[in-house]
Amino acid sequence: MALALPSPAPAQQAPARRSPFSPTTDQTIYPLEKLAAGVYAVLGDTGRGAEGRPNAGFIDTEEGVVVVGGVASPAQGRALVRTIRTVTRRPILWLVLYAHHPDMQFGAIALRDAGAKVIAHPDRQVLAADAGPDAMVADWDRVVGLQEMLGFQYADTPDRPVTGCDTLRLGGKAIVIFHPADAHSAGDLLIWLPVERVLFAGDVLLSDGVTMVVDGSSAALLRTLDAIDSLDARVIVPGHGAIPADPTSLVARTRSYMSDLRSAMLAAVKGGTSMQHAIASLPPPDPDRPVSLASRKRRNAARVYLEVEKEVMGLD
Ligand SMILES: [Zn+2]
Repeated sequence: MALALPSPAPAQQAPARRSPFSPTTDQTIYPLEKLAAGVYAVLGDTGRGAEGRPNAGFIDTEEGVVVVGGVASPAQGRALVRTIRTVTRRPILWLVLYAHHPDMQFGAIALRDAGAKVIAHPDRQVLAADAGPDAMVADWDRVVGLQEMLGFQYADTPDRPVTGCDTLRLGGKAIVIFHPADAHSAGDLLIWLPVERVLFAGDVLLSDGVTMVVDGSSAALLRTLDAIDSLDARVIVPGHGAIPADPTSLVARTRSYMSDLRSAMLAAVKGGTSMQHAIASLPPPDPDRPVSLASRKRRNAARVYLEVEKEVMGLD
């Protein structure tokens, strides 16, 4: 007997999943850009801000491969391994994580399966994990889709923790991994190649200049930008978006966005303006898009208001 199933009311239907990342399948190979001898950027999406697939990279040394960035899903991690294999058959020795946000580490298991040991900052605390590690995975399933999350396991516990500065010397290359300050998060790591003058900045820099500091602080970001300037990098790979033709201008744009925001929030706090009023002129955050440009600006403003309020009250 055929059953006529009532069609579900719209409210019961799962909302159509926005697809922030370009699709990754079992055959996907990501675009590469060679930055120096043996140094490659694995290019993420461009024009999608922090919502796009993140940038990653790898360094092919005579002893083996060091991968940078844990990408956003096991499927992306497997595609990253396939992409590396178009260039080198050398063993994959290390994976360096820039941060513990899902888009920067949920593909780590695929690199670990391919042989990598993990270098990360041991502080894994991020707001997105406030409801616990299982809830962070469930939330992320909705972002990237279950298909991309098949085979997921956490693999962000460091085999080699870095809280200050550590240099990997491998096959004739020097790879400096350092934590400048809690700018984007307490677990930030930057990867610097001093000979090639290439910096993998992770989400400390985004191509649109609007770094998220909700898990870090504006003061730490400004200090970190000064540290980045002092490196005089030839190439900077941001966490998301296109590699800037002029790395200095991306740092300058980020600094001016964050300094202006600090000044505005400081004036509000000193003038007795409430946070609600201080951020009222900003466009509203996009619903269900916590890292869209408007959402980032709004969330940063609220975070920076609280930060400068503490500074003014001498609680810092
Ligand atoms: Zn990110």
